[in-house]
Amino acid sequence: LHPEEKPQNSAEKEFENALRPKEIDDFAGQPQIIENLKIFIKAARIRGEALDHVLFHGPPGLGKTTLSRIVATEMGVHIRETSGPVIEKPGDLAGLLTNLEPNDVLFIDEIHRLSTVVEEYLYAAMEDYRIDIMIDSGPNARSIQINLNPFTLIGATTRSGLLTAPLLSRFAIKSRLEYYNSTVLEKIIIRSAGLLNAPISKEAAAEISRRSRGTPRIANGLLRRVRDFAMVLNDGQIDIGITRHALTALNVDEHGLDEMDNRILSTIIEKFKGGPVGITTIATAVGEEAGTLEEVYEPFLIQEGFIQRTPRGREVTAKAYEHLGKRPRREEGP
Ligand code: ADP
Repeated sequence: LHPEEKPQNSAEKEFENALRPKEIDDFAGQPQIIENLKIFIKAARIRGEALDHVLFHGPPGLGKTTLSRIVATEMGVHIRETSGPVIEKPGDLAGLLTNLEPNDVLFIDEIHRLSTVVEEYLYAAMEDYRIDIMIDSGPNARSIQINLNPFTLIGATTRSGLLTAPLLSRFAIKSRLEYYNSTVLEKIIIRSAGLLNAPISKEAAAEISRRSRGTPRIANGLLRRVRDFAMVLNDGQIDIGITRHALTALNVDEHGLDEMDNRILSTIIEKFKGGPVGITTIATAVGEEAGTLEEVYEPFLIQEGFIQRTPRGREVTAKAYEHLGKRPRREEGP
């Protein structure tokens, strides 16, 4: 089970889309971001202009795509969705941009994966709503300028650290999505269960919320699996008993940590005596990029008190030892 990954097959995509809130007031949590967006959207609508360009960054599954669609809905415009690696050539970008109607949203997921050339074309598009395209080659090569309709670029990324300064500076609105607390996740789970016509007790929703790594995508994914157990073994009733049974059968971690989280903790404990150890050293040991550890994994581990940052590197806490059923290292005796 890798619930943090985006849905791979069409059934999973359909499930995820079915549970996606479509209106801004159905979007739970992230109160500061929502409050600000409502103002910016209202102001843009009053002026009849495109909303300023928006960057949503933060770990996967926290609602970046969902919010982008909501922004378009609230603006009353169309959204065209693409992703960084899909836009291979400047011509691909030009194709997308020239098809936008006034004030439409262009959503680029994984915007940190845009190629350098495409990114450079994007600058003028974002700034002046125009794009210069080279046509022909050799002696006939010339560039023509195409004026675009005003539009809003919404970029989403899990790795804002990889964005260049010129790109970052062109987003007037930058919002970092945070992990959800279990109260908000519980609300999301109850809403999702309602949409699925699956009767769920408050206790059961609370249990799933605690084990969802602060992430709505994981919460919905677990609900989906727990619902299967409830259907087969409990007449469809999702109560606390069947929920605990299912989560145990699915091997879901007590705190909702995933495989990589646990690998990071056990590596620091086993290979580096609990730390402090530098992030690049940990990254090499677990086989992941240092930036991904810093932006995707570590924030949750720090927030939940499994790791702390010290001037000399990362250190696991007593909670991490306890979680992994290991004893903290004793200081050597005299
Ligand atoms: P991201 O783009 O950040 O990876 P998504 O927007 O695709 O995340 O969200 C993943 C899933 O989580 C979607 O099915 C969506 O319905 C659900 N979700 C995310 N945020 C919220 C929220 N605030 N309220 C309700 N559901 C949410």
